[in-house]
Amino acid sequence: MGLDLLIRNGTIVDGSAAARYRGDVGIEGGRIVEIGRIRSVAERTIDADGLIVAPGFIDGHTHMDAQVAWDPIGSCSCWHGVTTVIMGNCGFALAPCKPDAREWFARCLTAVEDIPTEAMLAGIDWTWETYPEYLATVDRLPKAINYGAYIGHSALRMYVMGARALTEKATEDDLGRMAAAVQEAIRAGAMGFSSSRATTHVTPDGTPVASRIADWSELTFDNASAWELHDRGLVRTGYKADLVLFDEARVKPAMPTVETDLPGGARRLAQKAEGIAATVVNGEVTLEDGKATGRVPGRLLRGPGSRVA
Ligand SMILES: [Zn+2]
Repeated sequence: MGLDLLIRNGTIVDGSAAARYRGDVGIEGGRIVEIGRIRSVAERTIDADGLIVAPGFIDGHTHMDAQVAWDPIGSCSCWHGVTTVIMGNCGFALAPCKPDAREWFARCLTAVEDIPTEAMLAGIDWTWETYPEYLATVDRLPKAINYGAYIGHSALRMYVMGARALTEKATEDDLGRMAAAVQEAIRAGAMGFSSSRATTHVTPDGTPVASRIADWSELTFDNASAWELHDRGLVRTGYKADLVLFDEARVKPAMPTVETDLPGGARRLAQKAEGIAATVVNGEVTLEDGKATGRVPGRLLRGPGSRVA
């Protein structure tokens, strides 16, 4: 059997802080299967002469929770060599969420992250209520990068306590229900639990978000906060083939542009990059010279506490 993809003559920076070296990387079935001088034939070959071949970048702080519903390529992250993002940061998440609270959740993300509410309401087929249902939705969506997600404290508090979450301390009963929902989320593959005490994090009414009302004792939930992505982040045989190929002399962010490509035509700032020749996610080329190839091999990455097969 030949390789699916062969990256030839690159300068490999393997992610471990080891010295760089010249070599070929052979990929089959989404994993790196060979590194060195490779003679095997491949379905597709990329000449990486003059380019760095590095593990795709993992961005641990994003708010892609809503965008994943309408943007299969995962911009702007995908344009910068990112192959995995973690979302649900700062206590914000779109689950768990009761149907009548959807607009409020969207407006909170607008207040803090500047994602237009109209875009979210137009672009999301909002069918979930619980956190496992949300992850199942993300799992099904077409994705060109990988996604992991935290369960967010403000979302959780609003779900369990309703409007009281914005003014009151949690009761014993609230805490019990929150702990059960966190456990359910971790078992479904949440990467952990996120919260925020930041004074910049306010609701659309300018009041503190729900997580800021909690006292510190509420923040002692048992959670697996380490992502434990055991088979990503290095250029090594056996590892998942998430790679970025770039010209180290040319790589830099491009000028931001204003685009009206959000659902419903809402505006956003977009920023591409220069000098990135190709990005590989789970063994498939997702971007070449900044252009999406249309392949969507990204996966939902479930956390270490996941009981989902
Ligand atoms: Zn954040």
